[in-house]
Amino acid sequence: MSAYRGRFAPSPTGPLHAGSLVAALASWLDARAQGGTWLVRIEDVDRPRCVPGADEEILRQLAACGLVPDEEPVWQSQRDGLYQAALDRLAAAGDAYPCACSRKDIEEALRALGRERPRHGELVYPGTCRGGLHGRTARAWRFRVAPGVVQWQDRRLGPQQQFVAEAVGDFVLQRADGLFAYQLAVVVDDADQGITHVVRGEDLADNTARQLLLQGALGLPTPAYLHTPLVLGANGEKLSKQNGAAPLDLRDPLAALQSAAATLGLTIPGEQALAGWLSSAVEAWAAQWTITA
Ligand code: GLU
Repeated sequence: MSAYRGRFAPSPTGPLHAGSLVAALASWLDARAQGGTWLVRIEDVDRPRCVPGADEEILRQLAACGLVPDEEPVWQSQRDGLYQAALDRLAAAGDAYPCACSRKDIEEALRALGRERPRHGELVYPGTCRGGLHGRTARAWRFRVAPGVVQWQDRRLGPQQQFVAEAVGDFVLQRADGLFAYQLAVVVDDADQGITHVVRGEDLADNTARQLLLQGALGLPTPAYLHTPLVLGANGEKLSKQNGAAPLDLRDPLAALQSAAATLGLTIPGEQALAGWLSSAVEAWAAQWTITA
């Protein structure tokens, strides 16, 4: 086994669908092509969005496709202690601060500044609580984003950059309901699990700069990133549980895998048993990304 450690990190908001299988397969193929270890982490940090039983269903679906993690899966809902410790460190260093603003407060502050236009429906926090709460009650914790550009290299998308302060602003680390935010949990977990390579859907590419900033502030290593192509639904939007993607039909795992492979630009002879198909897919992946394990 090489030092490579990769992961698939599904949120259990429903069963796997054709889109999420692409990320699962790509992360597995990359780990196998590099002689590495492949993990599954159930990202159930956002409890209200999780569907009971979806985690076990996802693990069954992966297994039916021959994608079996090399170590026991972990559940984010059992790891609050790690996220709290990271938040405490950020707060002690002045990189995180408490925020008393409700969404309405933020909207009003942005309107007063003439900056009310939301980005992807998310509001760029105007920094109201950066200088202290002034007697108001803390609701959430935010990361203090320094001005400047964050640059990184994506293995598939090439050079990437984001001006996080302008594009996103001081983002939430712990929400008003006490739940830790995805950005903090994913950074803490990737480091705690020794993840060297992140392979995930392109819809998440936009989060990478925020994660790099958190890694820097916490003194954690930055993994290599590869964001995979998305499967689009009939409406041209990313296929997702939210827009009604059908769960994978596991009566024919090979057909599901074949179509995930096609999305990844891999052509693999279909007329073979699962194990043979998966080895051909590893070879095709290694050839596409010129990996010599
Ligand atoms: N849990 C996230 C999702 O299902 C993926 C997180 C990641 O791979 O970084 O969209």
